[in-house]
Amino acid sequence: MFSADTHIHTVYSFDHDKRCDCSPMAICQAAYEKGLNEIALTDHYCVNAISTGALPPVDLEKRQAEILEAKDAFSGKLTVLYGIELGQPAQNAPLAEEVLRKHPFEFVIGSLHNEESVPDFYYLDYRAMSHYELFTLWEHYLKETIAHLTWGIGRFQTLGHLNYQERYLHAYLKDGPIRRLDFADLYHEIFRIMIDHEIALELNTSGFRKGMGEPVPRLEFVRYYRDLGGKLFTIGSDAHSPALIGDGVKETVDALRSIGVDRITSFASGSPEPVFLD
Ligand SMILES: [Zn+2]
Ligand SMILES: [Zn+2]
Repeated sequence: MFSADTHIHTVYSFDHDKRCDCSPMAICQAAYEKGLNEIALTDHYCVNAISTGALPPVDLEKRQAEILEAKDAFSGKLTVLYGIELGQPAQNAPLAEEVLRKHPFEFVIGSLHNEESVPDFYYLDYRAMSHYELFTLWEHYLKETIAHLTWGIGRFQTLGHLNYQERYLHAYLKDGPIRRLDFADLYHEIFRIMIDHEIALELNTSGFRKGMGEPVPRLEFVRYYRDLGGKLFTIGSDAHSPALIGDGVKETVDALRSIGVDRITSFASGSPEPVFLD
């Protein structure tokens, strides 16, 4: 069965697992050994944090050379897409545009890890927040996602981990999970932009590792995207180490099947092509 993991970090991501060899070549070798057919190497490039110095710069030239070398080495055995996880591009659009202009990425994940002027959801302390405050955070995130996607039209292949915040705050929602219908209009607008402009929906398998029991976004949201006519699905482990490559991919394929989705999307040809699940 075709198996893809199109969200993988290498040594060029500040938060990769320092105990492992995470060079692009080692990552490709691990993916090959795990029997994957298609991967994308998608290191962080968070334009807002890099431009303020909150994150160190990334040597994109060296990275490109190493990834293209690995891509060549695995030619015919494993499809390796030269990708990037472009974080918060609309928060520093000139820098994001420059990065995209200079590098021939084959696969761009557009990700939103924080609202403008607010730390990454990973760093927020949710313990003292009321349900209302969590609800408000969520609403702001969705509104910024609309601006993010609007910027990403013609630039993103997929939207990274929609509902990213749920990975961190789901355990603090005392009144139960936030539902699609809590923000029906915003989700409708998000999915309409994606469907109209061929931006795929990523199912990020980290939800299983974070105790959600489902990918991010949860199936309730995936189902709604599908009901609106969405047909482009990518699956990403968000691995930051060789061991986690492909993690949760099978569970996510099963989850897709359980809601009647019969395909995922390959970008090997340069444009989105369906690969039917058997
Ligand atoms: Zn991310
Ligand atoms: Zn990531």
